[in-house]
Amino acid sequence: MPSVRPPVKNKIRSYSELVERMLRLAAETKGIEARLLGKVRAQPVSYPFWMLSTPPGSGKKRVCLSGGIHGDEPAGVEAILAAVGMIGKEPSLLDSVQFTLFPCLNPFGYEYHTRENRSRIDLNRQYVRKRPPAEVRFVKRAIEGKSFDLDIEFHEDIDTPGFYMYEISQDPRRAVGRKVIQRAAKKYPINLQTEIEGAPADGGLISPDVSSQFFQRRFARKRQWPQAIYFYKNGTPHVITPETPVHLEMRERVEIHLTVLKLALERLLSD
Ligand SMILES: [Zn+2]
Repeated sequence: MPSVRPPVKNKIRSYSELVERMLRLAAETKGIEARLLGKVRAQPVSYPFWMLSTPPGSGKKRVCLSGGIHGDEPAGVEAILAAVGMIGKEPSLLDSVQFTLFPCLNPFGYEYHTRENRSRIDLNRQYVRKRPPAEVRFVKRAIEGKSFDLDIEFHEDIDTPGFYMYEISQDPRRAVGRKVIQRAAKKYPINLQTEIEGAPADGGLISPDVSSQFFQRRFARKRQWPQAIYFYKNGTPHVITPETPVHLEMRERVEIHLTVLKLALERLLSD
């Protein structure tokens, strides 16, 4: 793959402005620590790649949140910043939860509004590669040896008529999909198709039974595992991928993502 390639489009967002905003917010929020994991080279520039986290502690639930693995899904990135804002408003959350946050997994895609990274690679299919791209390598290294109770990956869908989400929960009592969709449906459209992106869906929820034929077939090819399946297969018992419709306002999409987060945390902390 060529290392120098002209941008596919004009830059429409500034990653450095995003980082500035994120670092300011992190500095203002008690308990949030920002860590530079490395630089993603994307000729002629390179992007600093950041992780945010809150202090560990015994008995705390461990929650991983990430956004922007697909660069043309910016509400996921905004959702992480909104989550930091939420932590700032509810600092007592940190008594019971340890957060690991990846605010923007695809800096080039964020700037140029492309699903893929600079090398036109879909980062959400790279988690089990021997030599994954830097963006994925940084995440894998940062979470090595860690386990999570909950992983939420904030996505968007460019042509869905309404909100939908994927949820895999080993413990059915932890599942929050139905409740999230009920809540979202009060204000926003839900994608009610019975098949979404090739997966069986029910009322906006794609919640495959892991022993089902569909699941086995879809994820038989390890090389194709998306990040969510990688987390699940590596011991995270509850993974959620909310997909907001981009035809809604940014503020509305972020509100839906935050609803997912709040309901999932509420359920996680209820036992
Ligand atoms: Zn996506």
